[in-house]
Amino acid sequence: MTFDPETATFLIAGPVRIHPRVLRVMSTPSLNHRGDRFHEVVGEIRERLPALWGTRSGRSAILTGSGTAGLEAVYSSLLPSDTRTLVLKNGNFGDRTDLIVRRYGKSVTTLEAPWGRHIPLDAARAELEKGDVGAVCVVHNETSVGLANRIGELAPHVHRAGALFLVDGISAVAGIPLSIDDWGIDALVAGSQKGLAAPAGLAMVHLSDRAVAALRPGTFYLDLKAHIDNLEKNDTPWTPAVPLFLALNEALALLEEEGLAARLARTHSMAEATRAAVAALGLSLFPDPAFASDTVTAIRNPEGMGDAEVRKVLQERYGVLVQGGQGSVKGQIFRIGHMGIADWPDLLVTVAALERILGKAGRLKEPGASLRAIVDRMP
Ligand code: PLP
Repeated sequence: MTFDPETATFLIAGPVRIHPRVLRVMSTPSLNHRGDRFHEVVGEIRERLPALWGTRSGRSAILTGSGTAGLEAVYSSLLPSDTRTLVLKNGNFGDRTDLIVRRYGKSVTTLEAPWGRHIPLDAARAELEKGDVGAVCVVHNETSVGLANRIGELAPHVHRAGALFLVDGISAVAGIPLSIDDWGIDALVAGSQKGLAAPAGLAMVHLSDRAVAALRPGTFYLDLKAHIDNLEKNDTPWTPAVPLFLALNEALALLEEEGLAARLARTHSMAEATRAAVAALGLSLFPDPAFASDTVTAIRNPEGMGDAEVRKVLQERYGVLVQGGQGSVKGQIFRIGHMGIADWPDLLVTVAALERILGKAGRLKEPGASLRAIVDRMP
């Protein structure tokens, strides 16, 4: 079979498959970004944002740029100048956070866990108790290793210390439960191409009132104050990526129709089914299973098999696209994304193809068990 991107089973860890309704709105004729229709679109997006964030509190910005633009906007304008910033990391995107924070932060302490293990909560608490930490930066869902950090358990300590809580939610928002209000998140960054199932290229930032009051001018293009003030007038400070705003609006409409709670529940049961299928295939998860992510499952390659025997065959023989490892785990793991509008048929095809690959290699202990693991969990 020749790989055809139009019909492929597309389960990388973002960008994710895009609904045809979202694709169609991007092919409308050019809109004047200072005209009535575009202002209407931004107004609709604004009305839909509380359903995405799960709160009506705080203020939002929508930036033309990928998720990293949202992170840079937050760190460049909110890191304290007279107190320490604490970075907690356990994967590739934690490393990225550390790099951005060190570019803008004055005094930075980094606490690290090995990739695949949970961030060090006890050590973080000890740092926070020293009383001189002004901001905590953490990745909620570490996409690179398929691990969801329990940042809700960190939140009370961040608050007791009075620090700003700055969260990379890029592969968490609309995929795993989080609570801006209960956890007192001061800045949350989402990317359009993950749980929202819009194209890549927009970053959404939610700020608490406290964060808004603390904003300093950071970079010019990503000036959060300019972005939130303009958004309140259904406008943007600079020329926005108009087709992406149209797509975001439609993707948010789809999320509204499904309901955030229903999307989270579907993502969770698909993740559980994937994990059960992985076990039935005789494979193992890369991260500590207690913290396995619901939006992306990271799986160790079968022993003696690498990308050429797994991902390449999945793609070329079965038209299934999954993702490889990054950084230090490149070539050792593969990752199945199951967020956004990914659905049960996508999983069935992917697991069936893995069954076949392992079966042909004579490595299946119980043929058919992985498929049953999916089918038994289907609604
Ligand atoms: N943070 C996390 C957790 C991510 O998953 C990603 C992208 O996969 C990023 C940051 C970087 O986002 P982008 O590539 O959209 O700039």
